[in-house]
Amino acid sequence: MTAAAAALKEKGVDVVTLSQGEPDFDTPEAVQNAGIAAIKSGRTRYTPVAGVKPLREAIREKLLRDNGLAYDIDQITVGCGAKQVVFNALFASLDPGDEVIIPTPCWVSYPDMVRLAGGEPVLVECHEHFGFKLKPQDLEAAITPRTKWLMLNSPNNPTGAVYSISDLAALAKVLREHKQVHVLADDIYEKLVYGVRFATMAEAAPDLIDRVLTVNGVSKSSAMTGWRLGYGAGPRDLIKAMNTIEGQTSSHTSSISQYAAIEAIAGNQDYVGAFVTEFEKRRDFVVGRINEAEGLKCRTPDGAFYVFVNCAGVIGKVTPQGKVIENDMDFALHLLDQFGVAVVPGSGFMASPYIRISYAAAIKDLQQACGRILAACEALSKSETY
Ligand code: PMP
Repeated sequence: MTAAAAALKEKGVDVVTLSQGEPDFDTPEAVQNAGIAAIKSGRTRYTPVAGVKPLREAIREKLLRDNGLAYDIDQITVGCGAKQVVFNALFASLDPGDEVIIPTPCWVSYPDMVRLAGGEPVLVECHEHFGFKLKPQDLEAAITPRTKWLMLNSPNNPTGAVYSISDLAALAKVLREHKQVHVLADDIYEKLVYGVRFATMAEAAPDLIDRVLTVNGVSKSSAMTGWRLGYGAGPRDLIKAMNTIEGQTSSHTSSISQYAAIEAIAGNQDYVGAFVTEFEKRRDFVVGRINEAEGLKCRTPDGAFYVFVNCAGVIGKVTPQGKVIENDMDFALHLLDQFGVAVVPGSGFMASPYIRISYAAAIKDLQQACGRILAACEALSKSETY
């Protein structure tokens, strides 16, 4: 949708893009300067595959400080974004036919990564009325002897759902009975929570730490999406296998990004508070406006920078051009083509009928976009035949 929006913009069409999964802020200045200093001081050569030592040391300290997790430096690996770390973990561990439980709605990449690594994604629906969170009994029902991983993403993309420590403890209770299941905790949105406490699985269930890979990075917390730096911490044998894969593919992420990330992880992070304050203001604005729209409703998410909007109320309606809105893709196209707003249909996240609105955009753009979304809903009429 972002590409489609960009193509329209190139043709001179006025489009507000709310489909992007990245902060609209610049990388903080101290981090930029650390990157520049790395270039100027010749830190521009190959590095160890797992990442330079001072970076892994900074990550070790971060995991202890923020999450109470004690990892050794050889239990930490750095990759080209959290994305590569997740991929390496799946690629390193899955045998053909191994199953990976993916609670849905989920980040678009998980099912395809599992398939690329030879595994079978097992999608487990998390209902809106349960806050889009995985229920312990649904986890239990999805586990088989072939289950290798449970993917847990909190705060969640696309729903913004945040698992509390007791939510995680309830899931851990199930996992204790199934020793073949590991947990991939994708904590990439950790810092973007609004009035709730972030928790991660290895913290909620310290006895399971040898079965957990904790994944995080600097993309969202330090507005560094383009720098491509993420990391994972977990059992030594898994980390070693992940490093083997990384060594034979990318070798490592950019040395410059690694040195900049030391500043992002160990340096002053006061900017995160400013990001959170701004995001929370935008979230409240978008949620308020969307709930005024005919046929749309959404919850107030606790984290990340997305609002996941239930659009069941517009399905079956007809556009002024005479097209019936059959699904969330049709609705997203109606918003884009006729009203110049780019959002992502829920089907991309294995959940329909929803749309995901990213509020990582300036408030004036959000105001304009929400006005257009309300107008787009008003323009729809009831179908005689649907
Ligand atoms: N996990 C989730 C849930 C995400 O939404 C994203 C980015 N869209 C990533 C991982 C990847 O982040 P990175 O930029 O660190 O690769």
